[in-house]
Amino acid sequence: MSTSSVARIPGSDRTARWVRADRDRLIHPNLPSGLTERTVMVEGQGCYVRDSSGRRYLDAAAVLGMMQVGHGRGEIVQAAAAQLGTLECFHLWESMSNDKAIELAVRLGDLAPTGLDRVFFTSGGAEGNEIALRMARFFHHRRGEPERTWILSRKTAYHGIAYGAGSVSGLPVYHEGFGPSLPHVHHLTAPDPYQGVGYEGEDVTEFCLRELRETIERIGPDRIAAMIGEPVMSVGGAVVPPPDYWPRVAELLDAHGILLIFDEVVTAYGRTGHWFAAEHFGVRPDLLVTAKGITSGYVPHGAVLVTEEVASAVTAANGFPIGFTYTGHPTACAVALANLDLIEREKLLDNATATGGHLADRLAALSELPVVGEVRQIGLMLGVELVADKTTRTQLPTGTAPVAQALREDAGIILRGNPRSLLINPPLVLNRAEADELADGLHAVLARVDPDGRVRP
Ligand code: PMP
Repeated sequence: MSTSSVARIPGSDRTARWVRADRDRLIHPNLPSGLTERTVMVEGQGCYVRDSSGRRYLDAAAVLGMMQVGHGRGEIVQAAAAQLGTLECFHLWESMSNDKAIELAVRLGDLAPTGLDRVFFTSGGAEGNEIALRMARFFHHRRGEPERTWILSRKTAYHGIAYGAGSVSGLPVYHEGFGPSLPHVHHLTAPDPYQGVGYEGEDVTEFCLRELRETIERIGPDRIAAMIGEPVMSVGGAVVPPPDYWPRVAELLDAHGILLIFDEVVTAYGRTGHWFAAEHFGVRPDLLVTAKGITSGYVPHGAVLVTEEVASAVTAANGFPIGFTYTGHPTACAVALANLDLIEREKLLDNATATGGHLADRLAALSELPVVGEVRQIGLMLGVELVADKTTRTQLPTGTAPVAQALREDAGIILRGNPRSLLINPPLVLNRAEADELADGLHAVLARVDPDGRVRP
């Protein structure tokens, strides 16, 4: 059945048809086969979305952590329509270029941490990490060190699903049936202060630095191309590292000529209250991968920002040999420019800091509940760690899925979780009243969660 014939069917019949067609036709990421229910979203405005039955939800996940400026922004619609009516699509291969890609590259260079002036465009996060990994290897290859092939990453990292990006991701679930397909990848321990019990009583940064130093020694410093990491782990649970972790890691890598890749697919463009989380930690990586918030998700897009040193090495001689069909897509670039205008004009970085702080204040009281281990926050990126036991800090036996379901069904709040933590990444336009609605809903539902993970009626 075509989509248009489905769309003509009225009311609840229409929803039933959609749900049936979804079950028959669609392959969803991460959906257990026995789960037959579907929530079919049909519209959005600001921080809210509405499903096909007319129910409204507070979108506390900003879709998937990318809806910085909120749903339904006319300014972005107009920018996209204008570009679609002028030059909808062109490419950047060889000497071809387009005005919007150039304007966006200049804009990003101006916003980025000093020294990250060169830009390679992609259509998403995994593509960006794939490019960053290749650039890092190619950088050393071009400079006469082809034996620098190893990539260091961290356990519990998420860098997207592609062969390279998936291999450096540290969550075992993404390797099932494939293994970490890229050779020469090593996963280090991630700094996770709340899970400090795993660090054998040592200071978290000292533990991680010692492990990094020993790993570099063991593999050999001249065999390592790069280390990749999310400045603040997102899918891993909004895990904020100790303030000295990244500066000390960057210093150690630099001493051995190992490149640092920051995966800022979630954290870039205001989520932490800065344009880039790199600024928060006072670290300038060699490559910085962005996507999601660059267009607030209105169309797929991404940008990898790199230093002049990296850019000039990889573009020398015959040039950088790889690219995508949609690299520098002018409509995506026009949408990104309009989106960055809104983030700037509406001071959304300041709002992420202020409203994020207010939300953290409101959520602090959650820690008194028996199943809440810790509330973490940086800007509008928050994690609520749920535990079966506060002393052992073990996760709920059910994970967080039943809690996320109760939040959706009982409180009209949409957010996602990993097995340990609820992840809260609302749009950066979230106001205080909406933050209060979110906090009230979380309080009401989490007060009904038992240590066995069940949600009482
Ligand atoms: N890196 C991080 C930190 C992410 O959170 C994600 C997606 N959630 C990705 C990379 C992958 O991005 P995409 O799904 O656009 O490929």
